[in-house]
Amino acid sequence: MFKGINAIEFSKRFQTNKDCYEYLVSIKWANGYACSKCGCTESHKGRMFYYRRCKKCGYDESVTANTVFHGVKIPMLKAFHMVFRITSKKKGMSTIELGTEVGVQQKTAWLFKRKVQAVLNRDKNEKLNGDVHIDETLIGGFSSAVGRSTETKEALMVAVEILPDGRTGNLSLEHIESFKADELKFAIKKTVSNDAAIKTDAYHSYKKLAKEMSNITIQYSQKGSAMEELHKQIMQFKNWLRGTHHHCSSEYLFAYTAEYEYRFNRRNRRKGLFNDVLQRMIHQIPHPYNYLKTLCVYNT
Ligand SMILES: [Zn+2]
Repeated sequence: MFKGINAIEFSKRFQTNKDCYEYLVSIKWANGYACSKCGCTESHKGRMFYYRRCKKCGYDESVTANTVFHGVKIPMLKAFHMVFRITSKKKGMSTIELGTEVGVQQKTAWLFKRKVQAVLNRDKNEKLNGDVHIDETLIGGFSSAVGRSTETKEALMVAVEILPDGRTGNLSLEHIESFKADELKFAIKKTVSNDAAIKTDAYHSYKKLAKEMSNITIQYSQKGSAMEELHKQIMQFKNWLRGTHHHCSSEYLFAYTAEYEYRFNRRNRRKGLFNDVLQRMIHQIPHPYNYLKTLCVYNT
């Protein structure tokens, strides 16, 4: 298993397409082979070293079949380089930089990056717990609309765990259609554990929710100061979006919130990300192109 964020180590480990295919083989059949057509667990050699031929039905399966790598046209070494760059850089990389660094067209880098982002979905048991501060924010749009209007902007509910020592734990960025109470309730139930102690501001939707959800405490306070850490995290997310991905249009915002959340919640485990992303790409089925175009990983 490659655990590293050092580019020289990476280049030593992966020098040819063959190195990459062998690595994928070690992931896909790590727990033994099982034919994806008939389930048989015995195989012969396939037509290439990264194929397995089923002993029972004869299906000759490539390591990339039924995985996110299916249909990826670029050489596997370049694909690996892209995954490495996306996962080893602290803030990630725009598709323009990615294309230049790896030597593929930006369009190619863009599509590949979508495939990577599509596997960065939240684990089902990954709900926030403990002290959780919640607020909502608007992203993008250039309207003069003020306040909580979602007309030209995308709305997010941001939740942050506050650890006993005051530091930030995990965060979640959940897309919402509006700031109505039932919409926020759905987002809270989806991302925050029922056992969490939730703190929000005095916005009327939260006041309404606090009447039915006993774990919500309303913070009546002087602006901002009450939930400083939360607001700092919202600013950091917006800076990241603007700084690293200034070409991200709002229709792809979902992909970027997923990437940010994935990255942020694993910020102390950066060395394992390359392998984790490859695992996800090998164990998830490919997403249709139209899905990637309007990627909404939060609703899968
Ligand atoms: Zn079979």
